[in-house]
Amino acid sequence: MAGLGTVTGQKVRGYLEVPGTEVEIPYTDVRGAADGPTLLLTGGVHGGEYPGIAAAIEVASRLAPDELRGRVIVLHLTNPPAFWGKSQYWNPLDGKNLNRCFPGDPEGSASERMAARVIEKLRQADYWIDMHGGDIHEELVPFTIFSDRGSEEVRQSAEAMATAYGIPRLIRSSNVAGGSYAAAAELGIPAILPESGQVGQLDPVSQAIHVQGVFDVLHLLGFLAGDPTPHKAPEVYTRFVWSRAAQRGFWRPKVHPGDRVAQGQLAGVLHDAYGDVLEQVLSPQEGDVLFTASSFAIGQDDPLFAVAAL
Ligand SMILES: [Zn+2]
Repeated sequence: MAGLGTVTGQKVRGYLEVPGTEVEIPYTDVRGAADGPTLLLTGGVHGGEYPGIAAAIEVASRLAPDELRGRVIVLHLTNPPAFWGKSQYWNPLDGKNLNRCFPGDPEGSASERMAARVIEKLRQADYWIDMHGGDIHEELVPFTIFSDRGSEEVRQSAEAMATAYGIPRLIRSSNVAGGSYAAAAELGIPAILPESGQVGQLDPVSQAIHVQGVFDVLHLLGFLAGDPTPHKAPEVYTRFVWSRAAQRGFWRPKVHPGDRVAQGQLAGVLHDAYGDVLEQVLSPQEGDVLFTASSFAIGQDDPLFAVAAL
């Protein structure tokens, strides 16, 4: 968009168009009065993760250009088709998970084009915070993922951001092809993916965790004067294992987020329409359950739960 944020000391609002689609992503471009780095903040890459979207709106509203050193680009709602379609994980335009499409393709399907547009913005940035949470049918305890890819400097910067965000559970991740923080690491940009909120609820506590986390990171990185809130050293998990459904079925979880489980412990049961057991799903490792699917209806390959271990 011509002229986007070319003047310092002001806030510019608009819609980021995605060529070849009808998608328009609402943004606020906050240009600080003083020069400095650029941070990209995204909410709603998954359209049903409401606290992160509300947090993006709140941060964009509260940031004052006079107090800001550098620039913060906020994409309030990165996946409007999923949000308005009330669709968990998937973009109704092409059935794809936007957070598996990065770095995207400007000639690809709708989600691939949207991902490419976000990455265009990311290329203007030095840091990325991509706010998520449990989706419409996911129970979750908050945690923050950062990538262990990229240079040592990028990795350390991402871990410092994740720690400053204030959620006491961190995950150092090397996987998730097509995910936001992996794509950022490829570009040499420190990125974090904090998760707060669950089951399609816009709850104020989960929103506040995101908002406080963003402001703490802005303090840490010098965008705002003052120090971030001090936090105790977080747990850093290095093994984060997702269990998925081998077949479609009716899901009865036996564990919940926050539970400590043993390897081989019964984590849930999939049964058929008559109640006959299709599969007893066991925990793949000892560790802490961080999310579970809360939907009774589970499709083949849908995530059921995830267990994190140190
Ligand atoms: Zn998400």
